[in-house]
Amino acid sequence: MARYRDSVCRLCRREGTKLFLKGDRCFTDKCAVDRRAYAPGQHGQRRSKFSEYGQQLREKQKVRRIYGLLEKQFRHYFDKADRMKGVTGENLLMLVEQRLDSIVYRLGFTATRTEARHLVRHGHFAVNGVKVNIPSYRVMPGDVIEVREKSRKLVRIVEALEAAGRRGLPAFLELDPQQFRGSMKMLPKREDVALEINEQLIVEFYSR
Ligand code: SF4
Repeated sequence: MARYRDSVCRLCRREGTKLFLKGDRCFTDKCAVDRRAYAPGQHGQRRSKFSEYGQQLREKQKVRRIYGLLEKQFRHYFDKADRMKGVTGENLLMLVEQRLDSIVYRLGFTATRTEARHLVRHGHFAVNGVKVNIPSYRVMPGDVIEVREKSRKLVRIVEALEAAGRRGLPAFLELDPQQFRGSMKMLPKREDVALEINEQLIVEFYSR
């Protein structure tokens, strides 16, 4: 599968905002957005004014990068959100939040969504007692997500759990860190996605 291999901090600088792709480092003064608040590349310091299309495109790219999705996958989520009842933009965010890799990250079992995807693929998590190694698996209310017994000593998971307090737990999730277990209490709501996102611009982008 295609993978982005360059520095992820460049992505934040391109979008002009923190996308929180590097775990703890994002909360320190080493953050590249704080240090160099302009776009990467030779012409990054030029002042650029985005057209309407440019703004919509940047917003779409921003959310795609936060969740680490390829264009095809993201478009698939948009089409699904569009067919659902309710507000399309909010549906879109709800669908990407429900991905297993995103839930594992939001529960604090990993430092980043990228790491969550990696560990899910390697079979370190179970949903309702059954091993699931599909990062896009859609978690539903009532589902219990846990670190599998053999993986509970993994330093990455233990350290991530210790540091996770700083991020806070969203209201739609419940966590028992001693048992390495969490659950989804209800569907995520718009306010559970605390990042600065204007999802309406994404709807406009795909509706052109
Ligand atoms: Fe983005 Fe984190 Fe890098 Fe800052 S440290 S630029 S928030 S990935």
